[in-house]
Amino acid sequence: MKTLSVLGSTGSIGTQTLDIVRKSNGELKVCAISGGSNIKLLEEQAREFSPKTVCVGNVELKKDLELSLNDTGIKVVSGNEGLEEVAAHEDADVTVTAVVGMMGIKPTVCAINAGKEIALANKETLVTAGHIIMPLAKEKGVSILPVDSEHSAVFQCIQGENQKQIHKLLITASGGPFRGYTKEALEKVTLEEALIHPNWSMGKKITIDSATMVNKGLEVIEARWLYDISVDDIQVVVHPQSIVHSMVEFDDGSIKAQLGVPDMRHPIQYALFYPDRFDFGLERLDFYKLSSLDFEEPDMEVFEGLRMAYDASRKGGNMPVIFNAANEFAVARFLAGEIRFVEIYELIKKAMNDVDHIENPDLEQILATEKAVYELLGKKN
Ligand code: NDP
Ligand code: MG
Repeated sequence: MKTLSVLGSTGSIGTQTLDIVRKSNGELKVCAISGGSNIKLLEEQAREFSPKTVCVGNVELKKDLELSLNDTGIKVVSGNEGLEEVAAHEDADVTVTAVVGMMGIKPTVCAINAGKEIALANKETLVTAGHIIMPLAKEKGVSILPVDSEHSAVFQCIQGENQKQIHKLLITASGGPFRGYTKEALEKVTLEEALIHPNWSMGKKITIDSATMVNKGLEVIEARWLYDISVDDIQVVVHPQSIVHSMVEFDDGSIKAQLGVPDMRHPIQYALFYPDRFDFGLERLDFYKLSSLDFEEPDMEVFEGLRMAYDASRKGGNMPVIFNAANEFAVARFLAGEIRFVEIYELIKKAMNDVDHIENPDLEQILATEKAVYELLGKKN
């Protein structure tokens, strides 16, 4: 039996994680959960899973949540401090990091310092602080198990292999709702169109990231840290059906792929039960019904976000932080209806050009870089 602490329990990955706990026949239990503002769902989850601690990110909602849980004896905490307490909860074996954005960094560091195994969904953590997180996890003897479907696929493909004999990673991408669009066509897309993902049901931020292909860029950088490989040995392959979740090519030219229906509960369960697997009745692939599997090259001229991610990673230092923070800023404004889709790329470009480069940023410099990006882009020109 494993005990989990779930950061972001009210989100897309968080609720699917709890669904696995629900169906795990007591193999998994939950000692702590955290959400941002959705206290109605937090209360429901607290009553169903009986954690010892619940955290609400929005400190103004702490009193309300306390009131609604006052018959349960569950401890209510709030804000960043509360999130860190939940991340390092003494009863947790595994901390599931499923908050969205760079706010995932600090609680992940706390969880690693407390010796917790990490089931990592929050990709922004490794993108911006991979050079700190990976050595820290090694030092503390903590495993980082990928939840993201592509990284889980790579992880499954390298089991039993000599990691030194990886020739390259082939990270698949659906291409998003605007696959095949020209630059001109992309100028006109709306928020509603961008929020419809062809294959996956996910939180809003990552759904927009998939439409811009920034998500794939973030995943390339995440894979670079997880598997200690140069981004130049990571190739993105557009695969519209999202059945092949990623592949690994070895030195002899042999390629292993991991396939399955596009359902995040597959990679989540793999991270939680590794090295075992748990069958909780998910849909299975039927090869008689698969008409075709298609592959194509991504268009990095149109989907500039992917190209800029490679550039950011090659430049290194705090450049991936600048890339990521500018994207977080821009996506929030796009979701608020304040900018057009293609302006997301323009804001990232501006930040990558204008914010000071730092070679080997520590945690404080990473957060200061985020602030500098927000200050730069927040200014009205
Ligand atoms: P969601 O937007 O669905 O969920 C985000 C979670 O973070 C919610 O629980 C939200 O709480 C919480 N949160 C937001 N703001 C705060 C805050 N200020 N303090 C504390 N908690 C906060 O995101 P996803 O589940 O889609 O994604 C989570 C992470 O996993 C992202 O990094 C994403 O890139 C990654 N990922 C997601 C995949 C997916 O299929 N969804 C696939 C692979 C990776 P509330 O809603 O209560 O405000
Ligand atoms: Mg993914």
